[in-house]
Amino acid sequence: MSIEYAPTICPYCSCGCGIYLVVEDGKIIGQEPWKEHPINEGANCPKGKNAYAFLYSKDRLKSPLVRKNGTLTKASWDEALELVSSKLKEAAPENFGFIASCRNSNEDAYVMQKFTRVVMGTNNVEYCGRLCHSPAAAALIPAMGSGAMQTSMPEIELADCIFLAGVNIMETFPMITRRVFRAKAKGAKVIYTDPRKTVTARHVADIHLQLRSGTDAALINAMMSIILAEGLEDKEFIASKTVGFDELRDSLSKVDLKETEETTGVPLEKIREAAITYAKAERGCILYDQGISQHYVGTDNVRNHANLALLCGHAGKPGSGINSMRGQINGEGSGDMGCLCVFYPGFKRVSEESAKFFEEAWGVSNLPTKPGITYIDMLYKCPYLYVVGGDPMMAVPDINNVNKALEKASFIVVQDIFPTEISKLAHVVLPAATWVEREATHTFIDRRVQKVNKVVDPPGEAKPDWWIICQLAERMGYKDKFDFSSAGEIFEEIRRCVPQYKGITYERLKRTPGGIHWPCPSENHLGTPTMFLEKFNTADGLGHFQAVGFKPPAELPDEEYPYILTTGRSIFHYHTGSMTRRTPRLLDEIHRGFVEVNPEDAAKEGIKNKDTVTLETRRGSIEAEVKVADRVPPGLLFVPIHFPDSCANALTISALDPSAKCAETKVCAVRMEVKK
Ligand code: SF4
Repeated sequence: MSIEYAPTICPYCSCGCGIYLVVEDGKIIGQEPWKEHPINEGANCPKGKNAYAFLYSKDRLKSPLVRKNGTLTKASWDEALELVSSKLKEAAPENFGFIASCRNSNEDAYVMQKFTRVVMGTNNVEYCGRLCHSPAAAALIPAMGSGAMQTSMPEIELADCIFLAGVNIMETFPMITRRVFRAKAKGAKVIYTDPRKTVTARHVADIHLQLRSGTDAALINAMMSIILAEGLEDKEFIASKTVGFDELRDSLSKVDLKETEETTGVPLEKIREAAITYAKAERGCILYDQGISQHYVGTDNVRNHANLALLCGHAGKPGSGINSMRGQINGEGSGDMGCLCVFYPGFKRVSEESAKFFEEAWGVSNLPTKPGITYIDMLYKCPYLYVVGGDPMMAVPDINNVNKALEKASFIVVQDIFPTEISKLAHVVLPAATWVEREATHTFIDRRVQKVNKVVDPPGEAKPDWWIICQLAERMGYKDKFDFSSAGEIFEEIRRCVPQYKGITYERLKRTPGGIHWPCPSENHLGTPTMFLEKFNTADGLGHFQAVGFKPPAELPDEEYPYILTTGRSIFHYHTGSMTRRTPRLLDEIHRGFVEVNPEDAAKEGIKNKDTVTLETRRGSIEAEVKVADRVPPGLLFVPIHFPDSCANALTISALDPSAKCAETKVCAVRMEVKK
C-alpha cells in the first residue's frame, strides 16, 4: 500500500485554491487542506472541500459512443474518430462551430481553436465565457486596453472601498470574500449592488443598493453625477490619463436624480452615500460579475462602471481598478487561448495581420481573416457542432428554441466527462479525462497561471481533450501541425505564440505555488499582479470614457406576466451542475431547483413554503419548489441555474447585447401558478 499527498488546485471556481489529495494505490481516498497555498491558506468553500467525489461517479463516460439506430452505442476509438473525421470533412467552414469551455485547460483550449482555424478553416470557435463575461472585452479593451482582472486577489486587501457590482461574492467567490473581510477589518467600506438581499448583502456590505433588476446604468450615472456635483472627481488623473471626459460630463448633465430614484428603487440618500464613499477612497476596487454583464446592455453596464473608476482615478494601483470576475476554473485562460470568434490567441483581434502572424507561427496558409459567429448564433446556424466540456442545453437562454434548432443539426459531437443534456442529441460522444487525470495549466481569475499535475489515471478509455483533437487533426491530414505528445509541448507552443505567457514555463510553475500572473514577458520576469501601473494598454496609453445612457430591460412585467425572473448561482453548485450534482455531500445541501418568492407575493398568490409552482414565460415553463424568503423583494423571483429538472433557461429571453452577444439572462417577465 502506498499513500501519497498530491498538491493540486480545486477544480471548480476561478479563485484557484490549493488542496492536497490523498492517494492510495492510484485512487483518491480523501483530501486535506493546503495551508501554505497563498490563495486560500488552507481554507476551502463547500465545493472545494468536496473536490474529487465526482471523479468516481458511476456516470463517468468511459468509452466512445456512436449513435446507431437512434441509440448511443459503445464504439472503439478508431471507429468513433473515423466517423467524426469523415463527417467533419463534409462540413463547409461556415457550417462548422466549435464550442469549448471555461473548464478546458489552456493546452486543451489552444488545440481546439487551432483545430477550428487550421483544419476547419473558420473562426467559428467560442467558449462559455461568451455567455457571462464577453462584455468585459467589448467594454474594457476600448476603455483601458484589456478585459482581464486588473488587480491581484491578495491586493484586494489594500482597497479602502470595494464596490461589489452584481457579484454575490460570498456564494460565488468565497475565497475572495476572505480578502474583502480583511480589507474591512482595516476600515474599508463595501458597496454592493444586487436586487436580492443575499448573504453578501447581510454579512459583507456596508451599503447595499438594492436596485431594480436591469437599472445599473441609471444608478452609476447618478453616482457619477453626484461625484461631479460634489467636485470629488480626480481632476489630475482625468487630465493626465484619460480622454473623452467632456462627452461624459455633457451626458451626465442630463441625469435627473429624482427620476433615478424612481427608476432604480434606491433612495437617493443611499446613492449619494455610495458615490461619496467610492469617490473619497484612496484605492477603490470595483469587482463585478454576471449581475451587471448578463443583460442585453451588459457592455454598456461595464463601460459605465469603467467610467466611474476613471472618474475617480481608481485604476493603475494595486487594490483598485475595474475587475471582471470570471467564474470558472479557466474562464480567463480559454479566452487567452483564442476560443473566441473575434480573437486569435493572446487577444489578437481577427484580421489579416493576425492571420498572417499565425500562418507563420503554425506553418500554414489561408487562415480565416473574418470574425466567426458567436456561441448562441452557432447553435442556430451551424449544422456541424463540436461541443467540449459544457452543456449549451443548460447554459443558453430560451433552450426550447435551441432544442428545436439542434434537432435539425446534421452532426453533433460531444466530448465530456459525463452525459449531459446536449449529449442526448449527439451523434458521437467522446469520453474525456479531467482535472487531475492529466497534466495541464489553468489561468485563474487574476491572470494567475497555475499548474495541475496528473495524480490518477482516467477511467476506462477516457483520454485528455488535447489528445482527442490531435488524433482527429491527424486523420484529417494535419498530423504535422498537431504533432504534440504531451501538454507540456503544447504549452511551449503557447509560449511562442502568446506574448503574455512567454516567460511562464512548467518548470517555473512547479517552483511557484500560487502561480505567475501574466503578462510575464521573460523567464526572469516575476509576473504582473497589477495592470496599468504606468499607462493603460490602449493605443494612446490613455483611459477612454464612453458615455452610456440608461435603457430599460428588454422584457418588463405586464398583466399577463407580472413578475420579474432573475437567475443565478448557489454556493453548493457549479454552473450547469454536471460535477456538483454528482457529489453526494453537495446534493445533501441542495438537490433540486427552487424558486425564491417574497412573503408578500406568497401571501398574495396563496403559496406556502415547499409548494410546487409552475413558472411560465413567453418561451417556456418549468416546475420548481417554493422557498418563501425575503432575499427577493416583492415582484422578483429567483431561480438557480444548476438543475436540468427545473432549468432556468427554459424561461429566459435571448435578447442579446449588440456588441458582446451576451444574453439577458438576469431579467425577463414571468408568471407563477401553484400546481394543483
Ligand atoms: Fe474551490 Fe473556488 Fe471554493 Fe476555492 S472558492 S475552494 S477554488 S470552489
